[in-house]
Amino acid sequence: MTPAQSLISEELREQLEADYRHLHAHPELSMQEHQTAAYVEARLTELGVEHFRCGGTGVVGVIRNGEGPTVAYRADTDGLPIAEDTGLDWSSQATGTLPDGTQTPVMHGCGHDTHVAVALALTRALAERREAWAGTVVMVFQPGEEIAAGAEAMVADGLWDRAPRPEAVYGQHVMPHLTGTIGLPVGTAMAMGDSWQVTLHGRQAHGSQPHNSIDPIVLGSHVVTRLQSVVSRSVDPRDMAVVTVGTFHAGTKENIIPQTAVLGLNVRTFKEHVRDTVLSGIRRTVEGEVLASGAPEARIEELNRFPACVNDPEESERVLEVLRAELGEDQVKVIKPVSGSEDVGVLATAIGVPLVYWFNGGHPQEVLDSDQPVPGNHSPHFAPVPQPTLDTGLRAALAVLLSRVGV
Ligand code: ZN
Ligand code: ZN
Repeated sequence: MTPAQSLISEELREQLEADYRHLHAHPELSMQEHQTAAYVEARLTELGVEHFRCGGTGVVGVIRNGEGPTVAYRADTDGLPIAEDTGLDWSSQATGTLPDGTQTPVMHGCGHDTHVAVALALTRALAERREAWAGTVVMVFQPGEEIAAGAEAMVADGLWDRAPRPEAVYGQHVMPHLTGTIGLPVGTAMAMGDSWQVTLHGRQAHGSQPHNSIDPIVLGSHVVTRLQSVVSRSVDPRDMAVVTVGTFHAGTKENIIPQTAVLGLNVRTFKEHVRDTVLSGIRRTVEGEVLASGAPEARIEELNRFPACVNDPEESERVLEVLRAELGEDQVKVIKPVSGSEDVGVLATAIGVPLVYWFNGGHPQEVLDSDQPVPGNHSPHFAPVPQPTLDTGLRAALAVLLSRVGV
């Protein structure tokens, strides 16, 4: 039995699963995680762990256990505007209100429910088994990861002035890999992400009188089509870049040419110069198509911007050793950077300490082997199996923290 395993009782494991099911059934939208924050606070209070609110719906627990190093562990808490279609008994029926006022179903479609549940179990293990370690562990329950708002909000709210400063920040994310296994990218871990909203202004007219219009749907279609060549024709094929138009809203009726069309764009890149190339290419494409249509100037707004998530190379190698000793050589792999984005890096770069962020597999072999598409994060079908996913996440996190504060 490893030191981490010796801290995990059967009762703790049952509580972990119960927490996961509860959190899964009660997801909340980004920066509106009120019930989730209250749930976390109640548990920290129960365990006698000192805690404070930070960055709105963020919660910080500080587990003090005498002299020794200080380390931090982060779990993100938000859900997504998705109608769940997993068929799980504990599926979400929750709804929420988006910033524009519209109602939406809400789902833990990115698996942050597993992150919070694991972090609560981690807190309990450390709070109850103080003989196994010495030092301070800062548990960061971070809101608003999906919109790149929460980490910055917590830092701006004085996170590292109010909590002891750690020597390193750790965290993990559940992914559609094999359950029971961990993947860790050394160096760049996740992409930069940029989201823009582009409002194309046309001229409204009756559908039978196109000559009186500037049709924003036709204009938008040209923009969407031409955007497909930004990456293929201006980015070095050895570099990674993605441009996705995820939303295209226009019109109310088939015989009315509308006044505007609104596009939602998402960009992922790993290098600053590639990011600049892609974003300027998008801007040029929009301006060029607007000019070709004789339309008024378009409005381009930045919705959010995720910084790169970089794993400290030296600390990553150490963590890999720890994880292999805990879970077995074959269960832990070095993986390529992930094209998703994360704001966890902000928590570490704000105080210049190393970050290591790893990926916890959530799918059983039969799901990965099936001829159906494998549901990934943000899918209405994304349903990581509770076990051994939760157990693996807890053991990995405990082992990594104990490798710093263990006695
Ligand atoms: Zn996500
Ligand atoms: Zn996520």
